[in-house]
Amino acid sequence: MRSVAEHQAVVAGLLAPAPVEEVPLPQARGRVLGADLTASIALPPFDNSAMDGYAVRAADVAGATEGDPVVLPVAADIPAGRTDVPPLEPGTAHRIMTGAPMPVGADAVVQVEFTDGGVDRVQIRHAPAAGTHVRTIGEDVPPGTVVLRAGTVLGAPQIGLAAAVGSATVPVRRPPHVLVLSTGSELVAPGTPLQPGQIYESNGPMLAAAVQDAGGHAELLRFVPDDVEAFTTVLQERIAEGVDLVLTSGGVSAGAYEVVKDGLTGRGVQFVRVAMQPGGPQGAGRLEIEGPGAGLPVVTLPGNPVSTQVSFEVFVRPALRAALGHPYPRRPSVTATLGERLTSPAGKRQFRRGILDAVDGTVREVGSPASHLLGALARADCLIVLPEDVTAAEVGDEVEVWLLDG
Ligand code: AMP
Ligand code: MG
Repeated sequence: MRSVAEHQAVVAGLLAPAPVEEVPLPQARGRVLGADLTASIALPPFDNSAMDGYAVRAADVAGATEGDPVVLPVAADIPAGRTDVPPLEPGTAHRIMTGAPMPVGADAVVQVEFTDGGVDRVQIRHAPAAGTHVRTIGEDVPPGTVVLRAGTVLGAPQIGLAAAVGSATVPVRRPPHVLVLSTGSELVAPGTPLQPGQIYESNGPMLAAAVQDAGGHAELLRFVPDDVEAFTTVLQERIAEGVDLVLTSGGVSAGAYEVVKDGLTGRGVQFVRVAMQPGGPQGAGRLEIEGPGAGLPVVTLPGNPVSTQVSFEVFVRPALRAALGHPYPRRPSVTATLGERLTSPAGKRQFRRGILDAVDGTVREVGSPASHLLGALARADCLIVLPEDVTAAEVGDEVEVWLLDG
């Protein structure tokens, strides 16, 4: 039997680092930066006023008080955006707005509330220290600084910063293109009536969503019955340039009609049992076929919906995120206190579905270990990890928990 870590390494080894492409900044939200972003300019780009008020030389107004104001002529008006700011002559003030460039010769700003707001002459009732309300060039970001590291997920603040340093486009990783293919003669599409013995196809939409959550680009193929001919035909029809991974579900366990196993055995995909629960039967490899699909990575997941999704979490999600250059491809994990006793088979790593109480740090199972309980999976917010050597965990024991929405 293969260990969880061994199969994780096999799956991760199938995906090369995603290529880097330049995209316009407004389209970069949620993408992963593919190279360090260096600022070629300073932030702020020039000394400017932090207040609406008057730019002065602190020495000229050193004696100003409420009862004994200093009066200065207003020699210029500097709104934000003025590019031809005259220097400040000694003994004068410039009216200045927030974000406007500081005139050469001024070293402080008196906010308008400490003045009479005069246009030709201004009465100043406060003596600022030099530097007051001046934002200095480069105090946020000196020029030449790496402002965003490769591997950063671009959210709103990061996109704002990239724009502020003048980037119209950013280098990001191209999302791996993943074909999702479900198998099973019992499956029908949601939205059509069910005959007795049929169920709705749920793994395909679930895996496609999981691929997107991980930063990949999912293409949901129509699902196929347990017919090797139909399976290989659909696969070969769709395999083309630009596909990075084929992800199947179902048809890999020990029964009859194991369509994925039957269709891909001897064609580069190795079918193994992994020491975990749920998700024991797994397959992975590179297609050994003639033509455009040659060498294409394939990961075959078991069909029970909880097995499918947990297998994706354990093997595929970290591999996709590593290919995207995430510095931390795994789910964040925390230590939690078990709120109930759980038993677990020897020699297998169990991933139980849990709900974590974020206030007191206790975690409880939702549902049971059974791998068809999709309702329970959908209520869970974490996976409780019970290692291979654990056969019983008691109330109050510390357990590792993977946070699913992190
Ligand atoms: P299999 O791995 O094909 O033997 O399937 C195991 C169990 O998962 C069976 O109960 C299947 O009906 C169910 N199953 C397999 N594929 C899907 C799917 N795409 N959607 C929902 N249930 C599925
Ligand atoms: Mg099946």
